[in-house]
Amino acid sequence: MKKLSLLLLLLISTGIAQNDTVDLNYYLPSDVTYNTNIPTPKSVIGHEVGEWHITHDKLVQYMYALANASDRVTIEDRGTTFEGRPLLLLTITAPSNHANLETLRREHVALTEANASNLNTANMPVVVYQGFSIHGNEPSGANAGLAVAYYLAAAQGPKIDTLLQNTIILFDPSFNPDGLQRFASWVNVHKAKNINPDPNDREYSEAWPGGRTNHYWFDMNRDWLPVQLPESRARIETFHNWYPNILTDHHEMGTNASFFFQPGIPSRTHPLTPKKNQQLTGEIAKFHAKALDKIGSFYYTEESFDDFYYGKGSTFPDINGSIGILFEQASSRGHAQESDNGILTFPFTIRNQFTAALSTLEAAVAMRESLLDYQREFFSNARNEASGAGAIVFGDEKDASKVFHLAEILQRHKIKFHELNSDFSADGRTYKKGYSYVIPKNQKQHRLINAMFEKRTSFTDSLFYDISAWTFPLAFNVDYTETSMGRAAAQVTNLTQKEAPVPGTSGYAYLMEWHDYYAPKALNALLQKDIRAKVGMQPFSMNGIQYDYGTILIPVQNQKLSGEALADLIRTIAKETHVTFTPVTTGLTQGIDLGSNQFRSVEAPKVAMIIGDGITPYDAGEIWHLMDQRFDMALTKIDTRDFSRTDLSRYTDIIIPSSWGNALDKEDAEKLKSWVEAGGTLIGYKNAGRWFNSNELLKMEFKTRKDTATNISFEQRSDYRGAQVIGGAIFETKLDRSHPVAFGYKNLTLPVFRNSTLFLKSDEDSYNNPIVYTDTPLLSGYISTPNLEDLKNTAAVKIGGLGRGQVIYFTDNHNFRAFWYGTNKLLMNAIFFGDEM
Ligand SMILES: [Zn+2]
Repeated sequence: MKKLSLLLLLLISTGIAQNDTVDLNYYLPSDVTYNTNIPTPKSVIGHEVGEWHITHDKLVQYMYALANASDRVTIEDRGTTFEGRPLLLLTITAPSNHANLETLRREHVALTEANASNLNTANMPVVVYQGFSIHGNEPSGANAGLAVAYYLAAAQGPKIDTLLQNTIILFDPSFNPDGLQRFASWVNVHKAKNINPDPNDREYSEAWPGGRTNHYWFDMNRDWLPVQLPESRARIETFHNWYPNILTDHHEMGTNASFFFQPGIPSRTHPLTPKKNQQLTGEIAKFHAKALDKIGSFYYTEESFDDFYYGKGSTFPDINGSIGILFEQASSRGHAQESDNGILTFPFTIRNQFTAALSTLEAAVAMRESLLDYQREFFSNARNEASGAGAIVFGDEKDASKVFHLAEILQRHKIKFHELNSDFSADGRTYKKGYSYVIPKNQKQHRLINAMFEKRTSFTDSLFYDISAWTFPLAFNVDYTETSMGRAAAQVTNLTQKEAPVPGTSGYAYLMEWHDYYAPKALNALLQKDIRAKVGMQPFSMNGIQYDYGTILIPVQNQKLSGEALADLIRTIAKETHVTFTPVTTGLTQGIDLGSNQFRSVEAPKVAMIIGDGITPYDAGEIWHLMDQRFDMALTKIDTRDFSRTDLSRYTDIIIPSSWGNALDKEDAEKLKSWVEAGGTLIGYKNAGRWFNSNELLKMEFKTRKDTATNISFEQRSDYRGAQVIGGAIFETKLDRSHPVAFGYKNLTLPVFRNSTLFLKSDEDSYNNPIVYTDTPLLSGYISTPNLEDLKNTAAVKIGGLGRGQVIYFTDNHNFRAFWYGTNKLLMNAIFFGDEM
């Protein structure tokens, strides 16, 4: 320990960081002896903690070695990441607790159930879930995890015995294995023998997209509530299996900062979170402060970060009877970096995380009974609030797939729901049995149901660390309403996706409506097999069935497959996609006949997307994930640095996601223009619009407004500016359902997500405004009054012809965080039907 302090002094005085003499003792408490039968990290991974950045594979190797050697530790593999890495969980507790673990778990979970008041918490262990480095390039957490796990397995003496006897630790060594591996590779590749703390060194400047995100470039720390990604699914399952009392989330922030622990900004706590939660967070904080004081580390609380969006790891627990704690350590973003506080070494960042992990456990032991009692009280109060409450019904009579995926989220959060006993209508919407579910509000997860379904438009603070609204039925664009429990049939315990009927063989044609979420997947599967398909520009009906705008027609005549082979292919696709195909035997309809010119040929798409420097990785990754994972559609990712020498003629559609800066230049714009003029469809999002405009790819006009501060002091400056940001809220648009961009939508309005202040003036000709914000667009979330005024009646899409092609511009991200199922179809419409717009 002394050795390293000396070294640190040396580092600061000479400005040169050295490579050697990092020692495990630097992290560990010195007043403890260690069991020599437990392998140290170095003995397994071949380097000291903090000497190199741990790669995920070595992390896995060490955790298995620990579990093998220690009777305090068990290990399980809960699934895999997109890149096939294991999602490990260690359970660490006293051997006597291990012998009795399932009983302890059941007793613990019983605290959250009805009639828990007679349970005795005096001797129950407290449950702590510790997770590390959900952002892969914030690695001090996961690296500290090596030392924490070693300490918990090897430390000896009464203190650790008391800790393990009273605590069950769910230890998640890496929340984001793919991101951790990506970042470790980057910094290890660039490490010099003589560590160079110069911030200009390439080590500290990652290549796009960086290691923060998972495989599809998602911010994993926004997915705790939507649970759309495999990593989140594993940990949410663990969460509900145990209902931990504390959940910790170890992050990093800017290099010049110190160390942050919660509570965050008090006025920005979500109102559904009980006050007691923040009181307990404050009590826990005292343990961190004391421990960090002891090692001489600086820190701060309450001035930044918040507990508003329940999709974050440190906030999700707050609506589930638990206490979520965020830690943020100043990042060395490599092995050592110059900072305002002198040279910030990687080991120093690891030591703070290690210290906070241990002070968390100390707090858990000291506050054990009050944490357990709080948890019991949380669920009992939730039940009291819910008594006599009715139910929520949600559904979409035209799209069982989307309804299924929303129900899947409920199931992952242990929210109970039921089948509908019969069809009914309310507020002009029809709820069909098999296409709808009923959620009783009187149940254990009452508060979580409120957090998912409520619309909130008034707030005590006008600043948000993240989005201010996430109302799930709006994101899914499903119909929903309050109802009575009288409409509920059996509870759904085995949720399955609705099967499509097996289509019979037709000698004439097949019809597929465009409403189902997976209709684009089905159409693409046909087109990629060179099957001819057409889209109906108008509604029609036949055999008593109404076919809406955008119905897909697959003629039997003149296909590359025989009638029988085509029927087999359609049956296979119907089974895989759950989409309904209807065989028909005549072309005569009420409305456009099947031979009408109003059925237009759809070409097989060949789609490329611009990625790389300047492009926002999240927005790009959401599109890649959507096409690859959901629709099985090929997508070529073209890096901005290769764009000028890429032959674009092989693509029918090119997507430019939102960008941070100028991803492409003037010459690139000319190249795109020629490609569009030759028949291509160019699709752009958000600020790509300004670039389209200035390069004359698509002429349009954005509203501008100049705000002048009056009576705002210097101190209030950043809050004043922050209040004009739309951090993420939900707004209502109205649709022209006859426009191909709106095909597949059954309602005249569509909720959209918006997190920008791009206000696009609508076109003079109304037929050019297929999606416009309504007069009173705010549905849920925060927007300032001047911004709301500006947003009214603006356009959400602009489409313009250029030569033989077209340019389609969306002001907003319709693929947000993989849970905005409701607006995903807009991109599919642009891809498949862009030619008809
Ligand atoms: Zn982070």
